[in-house]
Amino acid sequence: MGVDNPLGENIITTSLDALVNWSRKSSVWPMTFGLACCAIEMMATGASHNDLDRFGIIFRASPRQSDCIIIAGTVTKKMLPVIKTVYEQMPEPKWVIAMGACACSGGIFDTYSVVQGIDEALPVDVYIPGCPPRPEALLFGLMKLQDKIMTERNSFGSAIGMGERYIPEAA
Ligand code: SF4
Repeated sequence: MGVDNPLGENIITTSLDALVNWSRKSSVWPMTFGLACCAIEMMATGASHNDLDRFGIIFRASPRQSDCIIIAGTVTKKMLPVIKTVYEQMPEPKWVIAMGACACSGGIFDTYSVVQGIDEALPVDVYIPGCPPRPEALLFGLMKLQDKIMTERNSFGSAIGMGERYIPEAA
C-alpha cells in the first residue's frame, strides 16, 4: 500500500522475556545422572543416532553447570537424599523431567524401599510414561519442556533479581 520500510528486513522486535526464554530453551543442559534401566535409554537419546546436541541439549558432568535433571530410573529411599542434594546444587532456573514409570509413580516397585514418584520430593515439569520410554519419547518430553520454558513470564526480571518467574495457568 505504498508504505516504505526503511529498515528492510534487518530488524526484528521482541520482548525480553521471549529472548531470554528462547535462549534458555535452546540451551537446556541436563545433569549427567541416571538411576536404573531408563538411564540406558537416556544415554541412547544423547548418542549419535538421536543426537540431542542438535537441540542445544548437552549433558553436563556437574550440577553447577546444569539447569535440568532427568530422573531416569527407580528412585530408592536410600538414593533420594543424594538426588535432593544434586538438585539443590543446580542454579536457578532449573527444570525436572520424570522419565519412566518408576520416576513418575514407582512403577512396578510398590515396595518399602522405593519412592512412589519423584514428585514427592522435587517439582516435576514433565512426566514421560513408559517402561522404559524410548528415545523418541524422551525427545518429545524435552520438546515439551522447551514449549513450557517459552511460556514463562518475568524471565528477564527474575534474572536481574526483580521478582520471580512464573508460568501462566494452563500453559
Ligand atoms: S520404568 Fe522400567 S525401564 Fe525405567 S527404571 Fe523403571 S523398571 Fe527400569
